[in-house]
Amino acid sequence: MRQLPETDRDAIRIAKDPQFARWLEQITATGGCAHPIHLTGSTTTLDSATGEILHHYDTRNEPGERLLVRCRNRRATVCPACSHLHAGDTFHLVRAGLLGGKNVPAAVRYRPRLFVTLTAPSFGPVHRATDVCRPRRDGGTCEHGRPLGCGAAHTSDAPIVGQPLCPDCYDYTGHVLWHAHASKLWDRFVIDVRRCLASSAGLVQSRFAQHARLSFARVAEYQKRAAVHVHAIVRLDGPTGPDEDPPAWGTTELLARAVHASAGRVLVHTRYSPAIGERALGWGAQVDARPLRADGDGPADDAVAAYVAKYVTKGASDTGAGLDHKVTSCAGIETAPVNAHVRSLMRACWRLGGLPEYGQLNLRTWTHTLGYRGHILTKSRAYSTTYAALRTERATHMGHTDLPDTATERNWRYAGSGHTPGAALIAAGVADDLAAAREAAHSAVSSIRGDALGAG
Ligand SMILES: [Zn+2]
Ligand SMILES: [Zn+2]
Ligand SMILES: [Zn+2]
Repeated sequence: MRQLPETDRDAIRIAKDPQFARWLEQITATGGCAHPIHLTGSTTTLDSATGEILHHYDTRNEPGERLLVRCRNRRATVCPACSHLHAGDTFHLVRAGLLGGKNVPAAVRYRPRLFVTLTAPSFGPVHRATDVCRPRRDGGTCEHGRPLGCGAAHTSDAPIVGQPLCPDCYDYTGHVLWHAHASKLWDRFVIDVRRCLASSAGLVQSRFAQHARLSFARVAEYQKRAAVHVHAIVRLDGPTGPDEDPPAWGTTELLARAVHASAGRVLVHTRYSPAIGERALGWGAQVDARPLRADGDGPADDAVAAYVAKYVTKGASDTGAGLDHKVTSCAGIETAPVNAHVRSLMRACWRLGGLPEYGQLNLRTWTHTLGYRGHILTKSRAYSTTYAALRTERATHMGHTDLPDTATERNWRYAGSGHTPGAALIAAGVADDLAAAREAAHSAVSSIRGDALGAG
């Protein structure tokens, strides 16, 4: 026994506990969450009229007198079990805005809808994954004596891809400031698309809301150069939102024209800084606005929803563009497990964060995400449902809701979080088993569908 590693000894201790079966039930109920929240307390349901106790739950009889609940982290590197659940919710949320469902009418699929990709502008040339990277016939060097071209072949997984040709020429300040203003730039973009649509329809901009409504859901993705780009679903409805068709002038083509025009012209000006000056920040030249057609000509709605859902499980650290946790000092930047380019971006973020004129940007707080602080998924109110509504629906499905004509008293306290090493091992096993079961169910369904197709 003494020779076993600590984790195994701990796992054996847990398994020998008389309450192990109930503990395992709790772990399974959290889906094998890697960092569960521990709660102590009770819930009592009373009949409102008579005061009779209908139901009483207390953690006093639970293992360790605790109830474990999910951490609900969206990132796969933090908690595989909860990130899977979150990705599922995101898929349903995005899909409902495309195809209806979850209280969204199915008619939304016939509305003008676009899958839009907006990029960051260039902050200096970087190596690309291609057969001939940055070819330059005339050669030449920058003021730092580095070649202006590359000419080499890089595979997409080569570490050099995304790194600047000259780090001294690269505009790290611009890159970080752009990240810090990207959400504001998006807001300006949406306002401008409305303005464009209004003027195309011959409306005064202030009247737009009486005729149509623009809804969106967007996600951010870090590219190889560690700059964020944005994928968004943009939909045009009537003035009340999903329940109403847009006016006749509200076509997909008009929407696409407005998106291109606005992406090309909106700017956010940074606050004046004696050290930096004032910058005008806009979108990159690469703009994509692909129509999503109800007749299936174009990317399939389910594929788009799955694509978006995939991004919410990733953090800056997954693409190598930053860290999962905040940094609190310059030393934290120097020891971070990131490449030289990302480290330079983190340094720039920290340095700019020290300028009083940029105080409102809280750049030091967002050094780990290179100044970008937008939520991973952002949506307008009328796009579709909400995460909260999806969680409530799940709870209702599992019978965890208040009954009518009853009063519920809740008394809960936070008692800690996480697992001991042995518990973490067991929870990971539970999460793996659940994932394998899902996989098996999925392939069984696919093969039944395959058979049906083959028979038809
Ligand atoms: Zn979790
Ligand atoms: Zn290159
Ligand atoms: Zn240079």
